[in-house]
Amino acid sequence: MKYHPDRNGGPEAETKFKEAAEAYEVLSDPTKRRSYDSGGSEFGSPFAGGNPFAGQPFNVNDIFSSIFGGGFNRPQVDNNVYMDLEISFIEAIQGCKKEVSIWRQDACSNCNGSGVSEVQKCPACNGIGQRTIKQDPWIVHHQMCNQCQGTGNINVKACESCQGSGVVGKETEHKLTIDIPAGIDNGMKLRIQGHGRINKGVVGDLHVAVEIEEHPYFRRDGINVYYQLPVTFAELALGTKLEVPTITGTTSLDIPQGTQPGTPLSVWGLGVPDVRNRSVKGDMVYIVHLDIPDPLPDEYKSLVEQIAALDKKYKSVDRKTHETIISPL
Ligand SMILES: [Zn+2]
Ligand SMILES: [Zn+2]
Repeated sequence: MKYHPDRNGGPEAETKFKEAAEAYEVLSDPTKRRSYDSGGSEFGSPFAGGNPFAGQPFNVNDIFSSIFGGGFNRPQVDNNVYMDLEISFIEAIQGCKKEVSIWRQDACSNCNGSGVSEVQKCPACNGIGQRTIKQDPWIVHHQMCNQCQGTGNINVKACESCQGSGVVGKETEHKLTIDIPAGIDNGMKLRIQGHGRINKGVVGDLHVAVEIEEHPYFRRDGINVYYQLPVTFAELALGTKLEVPTITGTTSLDIPQGTQPGTPLSVWGLGVPDVRNRSVKGDMVYIVHLDIPDPLPDEYKSLVEQIAALDKKYKSVDRKTHETIISPL
């Protein structure tokens, strides 16, 4: 990616990267999840909250650091909003839209939420907050501008309408319809940029932890879906073709002759789409389960007794002894 900040460096590149990045992010990386769960900010930068002012040439958050003191290490206010959202098994597989409510204050209209009414671009660094020192054409160092303490701005005045908070009024309900991507899995988290609370010009994100209801018949493991398929002895022994349920309808499944109970039979591509790559789909896996009639009708009984007699004649069942199991050599 051309604008990835790690590769290009510099605040301009970072801004472009933020604009290019998707508003939705699915968090499933276990290390990220751990830092999320412990309440920390997993995205260290002060712009982690998807700053709506990212297009502007200054970092409002840092302006406030310089107005109100505290410098660069002022602890971050957590502007993020966290919620759990339960969706059905099928909704998770097919994707869905869900309306959620976020309670937050509105942005101050006077300062557009920035909390700042007046600001001048720092002439020393041209608003970038950094100065570039070139030692030779190949080695470039960036140094914080000490004229503006790295904020890129001078003569900053707090907004009078909101006393610099960037917000006005009481918390009110803001409804938002969110797109749950197809293939989302239990425990995954969605980060929706810019729908958190506003605080001094920085807007937090909405974090939605997705919980998926259990299905009475289907089980899911990643992108594969499992179904326990009851079959008769005759179907297993002779082999057959069965019409079986899938998550979207039905499909026909070949039971090869002599299939053992417990055998997984997979149908390629009828599982769950990969949440990050919809062209990748998992399988439908049918676990063959032998369904013996119980109680056994008399008609069956006489036939099965004939089978038992044939078993004695043709089939020596390898029931291993304790000794062969514990010392197989
Ligand atoms: Zn400066
Ligand atoms: Zn204001």
